[in-house]
Amino acid sequence: MIEKAKRKAQGARQANIAKQKFFLWIIFMLCAMRYAPCAGAETIETRYFTVSLCEGCSLSSFAEKINATGLFRLDALSANGSNIRSVIKEGIDALFLEVCDALDFTLKSYRGNLVVYPDIVEVSKVAYGDSQIITANLPSLYVPSHNTIYISFRDMTVGMLAHEMAHAVISSYFVVAPPTKVQEILAGYVEYSVRKKMGSLP
Ligand SMILES: [Zn+2]
Repeated sequence: MIEKAKRKAQGARQANIAKQKFFLWIIFMLCAMRYAPCAGAETIETRYFTVSLCEGCSLSSFAEKINATGLFRLDALSANGSNIRSVIKEGIDALFLEVCDALDFTLKSYRGNLVVYPDIVEVSKVAYGDSQIITANLPSLYVPSHNTIYISFRDMTVGMLAHEMAHAVISSYFVVAPPTKVQEILAGYVEYSVRKKMGSLP
């Protein structure tokens, strides 16, 4: 009788452990989905950034957005992915160096992430979380703790990307981060000077 009760208790314990393991696995998967750059993403390693492009964000359209200055003759490139990838690599790194020049900051080394989400809603979720999102109003942001720029593919402009790169550079350059307002002024200045150089100011 006692043996039977013991076996029953052991069985219940094992069932409990299995249940706990199952819930932990579910939580792990939810966290992984929340913070994974994006499922099915194209990844491009540039000198300064790991760029993750979501499914549906085409390489050629992204290259066109990066190449807004017309630095590269996209029509002269074959449609083969490796050339488009090199346009993206060179474009991202050239813009990063432009941002460093505008700030007159020299970084000994830098590596960061650039995650390209399809739209403003996905970017806003990074800032506000899934449940608290009331209005999706963030086309881009830089999160220092992730060392990552999040940007909406649909809304992205070179000026916007330069602005977020400036936040990344500022965050890397200073041991003690300057006040938020100062960071915004500097990032705004970089965006302005990049757009002025591109001739995209109104
Ligand atoms: Zn900003």
